[in-house]
Amino acid sequence: MKQYEPVIGLEIHVELKTKSKMFCRCSAVYFGEPPNTHTCPVCLGMPGALPVTNKDAIEKAILVGLALNCKVNNFSKFDRKHYFYPDLPKGYQISQYDLPINGKGYLDINISGEKYRVGITRAHQEEDAGKLTHTGDATLVDLNRAGVPLLEIVSDPDMHNPVQAKLYAQKIQQIVRYLGVSDADMEKGSMRADANVSVRPAGENGLPPYKVEVKNMNTFKGIERAIEYEIGRQIQLREKDEMPVQETRGWDENKGKTFSQRTKEAAQDYRYFPDPDLPPLTFDDAYIQSLGKKLPELPDAKAKRFRETYKLSDKDIETLLFDRMFADFFEEAVQVYARSKADSPTSGVEPEDAKKVANWMLGEMLRRINESNTSLSDLKLSPAMLAELLYLLDKGEISGATAKGVFAKMFETGTGAAQIIQQHGLSQISNEGEIKRIVEKVIAANQKAVSDYKAGKEASLQFLIGMVMRETKGKANVEQAKKLLLDLI
Ligand code: ZN
Ligand code: MN
Repeated sequence: MKQYEPVIGLEIHVELKTKSKMFCRCSAVYFGEPPNTHTCPVCLGMPGALPVTNKDAIEKAILVGLALNCKVNNFSKFDRKHYFYPDLPKGYQISQYDLPINGKGYLDINISGEKYRVGITRAHQEEDAGKLTHTGDATLVDLNRAGVPLLEIVSDPDMHNPVQAKLYAQKIQQIVRYLGVSDADMEKGSMRADANVSVRPAGENGLPPYKVEVKNMNTFKGIERAIEYEIGRQIQLREKDEMPVQETRGWDENKGKTFSQRTKEAAQDYRYFPDPDLPPLTFDDAYIQSLGKKLPELPDAKAKRFRETYKLSDKDIETLLFDRMFADFFEEAVQVYARSKADSPTSGVEPEDAKKVANWMLGEMLRRINESNTSLSDLKLSPAMLAELLYLLDKGEISGATAKGVFAKMFETGTGAAQIIQQHGLSQISNEGEIKRIVEKVIAANQKAVSDYKAGKEASLQFLIGMVMRETKGKANVEQAKKLLLDLI
């Protein structure tokens, strides 16, 4: 069997988070709203209604372009893309054809520690279509989404396996979320990915004479599986000396298969022409630079700084940075914690402090977030609360065993650690007399374990320590308990 190399490019649409739609004043916040309540003559395509460009959407589109290292064009324009869209009443979509806002750029993804660069062809501004709901013998249309600003990010055909494509899509989501310009929620449809997939005999460099566009994946796993399936299907055809046809295929998540939707039209079929109702967009360099100053620290730069400042592992950093709010939570908790234990207010952050905070966040905190399905914006736990817990642990106010329980209560209720400890009587027992009394009781009740330990069975000591902790409901100072046990047996 011959070897084949897949050639993959992605087209990712992200809805820009603006107050109003792309070319009218209707609210763009449509999710869950009653159908057809966010509409007006412009987005309904009424005769004579004129579009006006949304400046906020344009600025957000440029921010994405800058974050993706794109050449932001000084001159761009809107074009009409003609097509029968049952969910876009004008009969065309306002998009950009030959002169997009954002031209050539690139995005680096991280594949098991290696940097892999994917070219960006363009990122252009357009409008979303409405939503169709098929109900047996009828189709319902909701035009609340029609005209919501959409940015289409087109990659070069630079990816060669499904994992690269998935990582690329995840990184796009991460970046637009860091920028705060889109929710980029695949399940809610504010981020949608289409993949262009073809295969060529290994060793060939040119693009294959066809490509298949795969649509309808609404999870990252779905992107990976759909491309995987499509590669297999195309290789089978090429093995039989059949060239796959250029077409659009849908992804059926349940069957795990793609299916033919329509043979793919070419650009000329859309009869693109400049929209006569909209003036072209002209930006001078100073304006573009001023937007560049608004860019937040992006994931790659943050990762580099975290590596240098906190000396954390790449894996820890990757998880901490996945969401900007999570990364911010980490830094704030580290700062408060370091300050609380510092002798002078100018002392810096020690890597070990950062590591402790990271361990709690990546362990207990993430587990509870996932279990309770809490979004980061709804957290009751604050960075200062986590810092306080660590501080109280350091001071010996609570035992390590108790700390997890205290954390759970903080997470659930938003009450501070000191208050929880006081309310529930969880203070660590460090009083020597009190621990001694319990140790003596445990020794008396467990003579067999004592003699086993004396006979050289190390595990029996752990058992005895465990009994002391049980007697004190986890509140004994473990080190003290161990020392007393050794003294008394
Ligand atoms: Zn409208
Ligand atoms: Mn598009």
